[in-house]
Amino acid sequence: MRTKFLPFSPPLIGREEIDEVVDTLRSDWITTGPKTRRFEEEFAAYVGAKAALAVSSATDAMLVALAAMGIGPGDEVITSTNTFCSTVHVIEHLGARPVLVDVEADTLNVDPAAVEKAVTSRTRAIMPVHVYGHPCDMDAILDIAGRRGLKILEDAAHALPAEWRGRRIGGIGDATAFSFYATKNLTTAEGGMLTGDPDFIERARLWSLHGMSRDAYKRYSAEGSWFYEVVLPGFKCNMTDIQASLGLHQLRKLEGFQARRREVVARYQAGLRGCDALELPTERIGTRHAWHLFVVRLRNDTLRIDRATFIEEMKKRNIGTSVHFIPIHLHPFYRDKYGYSPEDFPVAMDAYRRMLSLPLNPRLSDADVEDVIEAVLDVVTESRR
Ligand SMILES: *Cc1c(COP(=O)(O)O)cnc(C)c1O
Repeated sequence: MRTKFLPFSPPLIGREEIDEVVDTLRSDWITTGPKTRRFEEEFAAYVGAKAALAVSSATDAMLVALAAMGIGPGDEVITSTNTFCSTVHVIEHLGARPVLVDVEADTLNVDPAAVEKAVTSRTRAIMPVHVYGHPCDMDAILDIAGRRGLKILEDAAHALPAEWRGRRIGGIGDATAFSFYATKNLTTAEGGMLTGDPDFIERARLWSLHGMSRDAYKRYSAEGSWFYEVVLPGFKCNMTDIQASLGLHQLRKLEGFQARRREVVARYQAGLRGCDALELPTERIGTRHAWHLFVVRLRNDTLRIDRATFIEEMKKRNIGTSVHFIPIHLHPFYRDKYGYSPEDFPVAMDAYRRMLSLPLNPRLSDADVEDVIEAVLDVVTESRR
């Protein structure tokens, strides 16, 4: 057994990121400026988007995107119950109504048939969440949005880099939000990116910086002017050049990180495939998984212990695991406000009761991966019915 605890998702920061941050700190400009602009351009080119806006988080990327789409009171936005709470909070923040739907059993991504059923005359947008890094069924979602005149805002917090029918996530829907939170595939400690068409991105940019017609760099730099106008009541969620310094180098390293993630996934698949107590994640034909998370589901009929006990047993063996996600409709705020009950979304509920996420990050050594596999198989052997 491991003697040292294996953390679930530590960051992988190198010399290049540190030197770039120091370079920014020694310069005359530390907040949104030339490095943020360069990060936006390089990121847009990488995912195949026409334009990008760097912000302080994926949550804020989604908030300014919905604001720029004109979503507000009286509107409905459809999303998955299997997501992080902030996907749904941003709808609530704008006074619109989140409408939750169930997921597909294999990927645990939003079920397009359930989305279609949830559309009403008040629906304005769909927010597909590419959970764990596996792309949603975008054929079906684009079809629904096209027929019903709805906007698409993708929550791609996990989906960098992911592909759907040869196209990178980030260049498909009307808008896509990425997260650079500390645990994500690319990190700036905190940060996010919104991609979309140039006109849309410029509107979102206004929403991200007080609704001011000129940003501070344009006002305070040598070529700047003091004059600005406030054209809407914007938020304040711009990215700093300190964060962009991290992002520029993380982006250059991303392909290497992904290659290692895929190796780890191949080892997990090979090591756990034969275990009848587990359901392993899939990668549908025609997609490329970003492998942000490796989520297994327990087959409860084979085990005497439940998921919570399984996680405790993994912790005793010095392996950090997690659960993605506690369905939104179980959280007291959404449960009580909209009157949801647990079995409203049976597929998500069944998965939630049985799921845990194993460590998956490019820092894992082959020995670490072997330790995780050994711990899982050991817990299964000890708790078999
Ligand atoms: C991490 C995450 C977010 C939030 O990202 P932040 O950058 O922390 O705001 C949103 N949705 C999903 C699915 C996430 O995993």
